[in-house]
Amino acid sequence: MTNKKPNHDNVSHKEKMQELKSNVDEKIRSARDKKGLLIVNTGHGKGKSTAAFGTVARAVGHGKKAAVVQFIKGQWTCGERDLLQTHGVEFIVMGTGFTWNTQDKDADKKAAEEVWKKTLSWLQTAALDLLVLDELTYMINFGYLDLESVIKAIKERPPMQHLIITGRDCPKKLMDLADTVSEINSIKHAFDAGIKAQKGIDY
Ligand code: ATP
Ligand code: MG
Repeated sequence: MTNKKPNHDNVSHKEKMQELKSNVDEKIRSARDKKGLLIVNTGHGKGKSTAAFGTVARAVGHGKKAAVVQFIKGQWTCGERDLLQTHGVEFIVMGTGFTWNTQDKDADKKAAEEVWKKTLSWLQTAALDLLVLDELTYMINFGYLDLESVIKAIKERPPMQHLIITGRDCPKKLMDLADTVSEINSIKHAFDAGIKAQKGIDY
């Protein structure tokens, strides 16, 4: 059977797409600013750190210099770290694990402050195009690092340096300062069904 329906649908689809395209083109034309971005990946769903590491891979693929600070990874192995280190990405890993592993708040605070000292020097290194502060939010929320000092260092970093912060419950002041904030929500997670963390997927 031949389709006798007039091609109104096609015409209106074409018009809609043309309008959409001209809106997007206009936005692209008027978007001129270039700056070092502050990106926050927060929320309780899976994907905050992996998105940050994906961006590191993207930057390194363009020949850019990237570095990562892992605030609560402890001594665990970590696939992305092993891979990215072979591509010139420097890592600092906080020497202790989660606070409920060490159960020593003073030692954790001291470890966080030590790591922050090195982080500060990276936040002053213009040659570094991208810096990831993985799980930084916990250091602030646990009271290990002072929010105002963190904000000051972020504001004073080299103007073209991109910075990604990950972690749940990001303080509002940091989100207000950020250029891009993504909240990843959990609809469900395999762990809740009793499935163990899987190598290559969760670490
Ligand atoms: P990922 O590193 O997989 O991107 P994430 O950074 O978003 O996860 P974190 O809270 O840092 O989330 O997760 C640490 C570990 O807990 C990861 O192994 C992750 O797979 C797992 N995880 C993430 N979200 C959940 C969740 N909603 N329930 C249980 N486990 C989770
Ligand atoms: Mg994470």
